[in-house]
Amino acid sequence: MEYKFKLSKIHCAGCAVALEQNLNEIEGVKAEISFVSKQLRLFIDTENPAETLTAVKIAVTNFDHAIELYDYGDEDKLEEKEKNQRIINVCRYSFSVIALILGLFIEIMWLKVIIFALSYGASSYDVVWGAIQNIRNKNIFDEKLLMSVASIGAFAIGEFIEAIFVMVLYGIGQIFENVAVDKSRNRVKSLLEIKQPYANVFDGETDIQVPLASVGVGALIHIKPGERVPLDGIVVEGTSYLDVSAITGESREKVVTSGDEVLSGSINGSSLLLVKVTKLEKDSTVSKIIDMVQNATESKAKTEKFVSKFSRFYTPIVFGLAIILAFVPPIFSGYKNFSVFAYRALCFLVVSCPCALVISVPLAFFAGIGSMARSGVLVKGATFVESLAKADSVIFDKTGTLTTGVFEISEIYAAKEHTEDEILELAAYAENFSNHKIAKSIKKLYNEKRPDKPVNSAWISDYTELAGLGIEATIFGQSVLVGNGELLKKHQINFPNVQKAGTVLHISADEDYYGYIVICDEIKKDSKLGIKLLSQLKIRNIALSTGDELNSAVLVADKIGIDEVHAGLLPDQKVEIIKNQTEKGKTVAFVGDGINDAPSLAVSNVGISMGGFGTDVAVEASDVVIMTDEPSKVALAIKKAKKTYKIAKQNIIGSIAIKLLILALIGFGFSGMWLGVFADVGVSLLAVLNSLRAMLK
Ligand code: ADP
Ligand code: MG
Repeated sequence: MEYKFKLSKIHCAGCAVALEQNLNEIEGVKAEISFVSKQLRLFIDTENPAETLTAVKIAVTNFDHAIELYDYGDEDKLEEKEKNQRIINVCRYSFSVIALILGLFIEIMWLKVIIFALSYGASSYDVVWGAIQNIRNKNIFDEKLLMSVASIGAFAIGEFIEAIFVMVLYGIGQIFENVAVDKSRNRVKSLLEIKQPYANVFDGETDIQVPLASVGVGALIHIKPGERVPLDGIVVEGTSYLDVSAITGESREKVVTSGDEVLSGSINGSSLLLVKVTKLEKDSTVSKIIDMVQNATESKAKTEKFVSKFSRFYTPIVFGLAIILAFVPPIFSGYKNFSVFAYRALCFLVVSCPCALVISVPLAFFAGIGSMARSGVLVKGATFVESLAKADSVIFDKTGTLTTGVFEISEIYAAKEHTEDEILELAAYAENFSNHKIAKSIKKLYNEKRPDKPVNSAWISDYTELAGLGIEATIFGQSVLVGNGELLKKHQINFPNVQKAGTVLHISADEDYYGYIVICDEIKKDSKLGIKLLSQLKIRNIALSTGDELNSAVLVADKIGIDEVHAGLLPDQKVEIIKNQTEKGKTVAFVGDGINDAPSLAVSNVGISMGGFGTDVAVEASDVVIMTDEPSKVALAIKKAKKTYKIAKQNIIGSIAIKLLILALIGFGFSGMWLGVFADVGVSLLAVLNSLRAMLK
């Protein structure tokens, strides 16, 4: 069973990691917490899920009494509450600062202490109260407890102003941090607000507004100018411009008219369209896009996992250093300056929270994934942003990926007594059941040429499609082969060696060679640019791998600037080539389009499928989906991924470096607690702001 909750008042990213770990210790529970989207995803696999769920809820309260779980759909309530909380907090901190200033001017000692105590109380009561509650949990590395100990300690040794300042800065820093995280979350959310919540269902007379979930396949809907297309469908009536930028990232207008497919999420431009719905809400393009991006932010990248592991060691180590610092140096100096070192140790506690680290990485990935989605590149998880960024080898499929996949016949050669018509007819019959792009083109060309004589599938039996080879079938009682040279070799049929510019399909029936058809498809306009952009990104290994024959592959490769060509491959040989490279330690991206490519998409480090949700199998097997047909988007995806990854790395290295530096400064007495607070909240805030850069172009 899967459950999803919204988390409220989760204190910091470090807490999220710790809570997730606690929940995962419950038997039968797999928990995933995303601090950025404030989401808890639970997979419960026990005999009594309800009981386990209660156990989870208790564990959450035990971890931190302040955390609340909300069901999905109650987000508005939650947001409202958090906003109110923020206002209260601002008031508290203002009061605290005013009292602090007042206290500075008061000479009478006992009154001064009382006013400072009030000031401290106002800024810290929730943290201290939280810490007391959490002590029961024996969670000594809890951020609230660390901050409380540090500030109360400072207060006790007479450092009133520092104690108050720590709490005020800490609180204000957290407010800023939350606002920044919320901003980025809302930004990404608004990028994905491409769903029209209702459809105007047309019942033959009038339109009725109906929620999408209750619109069935086959329903007729009206889409008014300016409205978004709510569900995928086919135009029945009307001609209009569609703005498809929200789903493909291209700012190109597309004209649609009756018989054309419309995808949900695009905006109807000029005139009314009547559309027949072809997909339910859950299967429509928009839902798939939103699902993919939302789930993407939950699967964690290696860097992210490293950081949460690191943070688990970081806190205890700094904590240990603090204890050493408090006791060891005073021993050597005869216990004279105990309070000096006690103070430094307390400062260490402030720096010991790993939050800056923990939040900065997922937030960078989150922003990057959102920005990529905006340009029509859907990434299924942070891991793949990482693999894209590290990719040093990109292998392209040829047909349908670098070429359009729409074939024209450039020549038909009939051997001996056979005729061109006969050959084309056999080919059309053989391709009748195939979904390959070659098949679609042959069928189309045949239908155009012989509208009087459509294919009669009653004459086709024993049909087999051999991926990367062609078709075997019994047609008009003869055993027919249509495919490449390898297919004919397999059946030991002699055929001429033809070197033509294009793909050669040989045709034979009952072991008699009939002739061949040369078909050509165009190279996509964008392919050459795509390869150039990739080499500009310093990707050294760019290769073409195809099931087509060598000369036709080389022709394409030469034109677009690829040096490495692997031709005549069966699907499993394509897989071998990828495996060879990954075994050598390369990070391989495979770019493909069709059913034949699914194994290669799956085995590569990052499988990129092109052309949107064309073939489900390809989308399923791939890690990145490019919504358009443009190979240049591969370079764009890699570029954005590199940027995102770089930001994540900057955040990690930057925050570790600053923290270490400040620890050293504190340890040697060059700095006070306020710098410690900067190392904690200030650095988080910097990291958060840096992450937001991943959202920019
Ligand atoms: P690519 O790797 O370029 O996408 P495929 O692996 O899909 O190409 O196909 C490789 C070759 O196998 C084609 O060039 C063609 O010669 C042959 N072939 C594959 N499917 C068919 C088919 N349905 N009909 C005829 N030939 C086919
Ligand atoms: Mg292909």
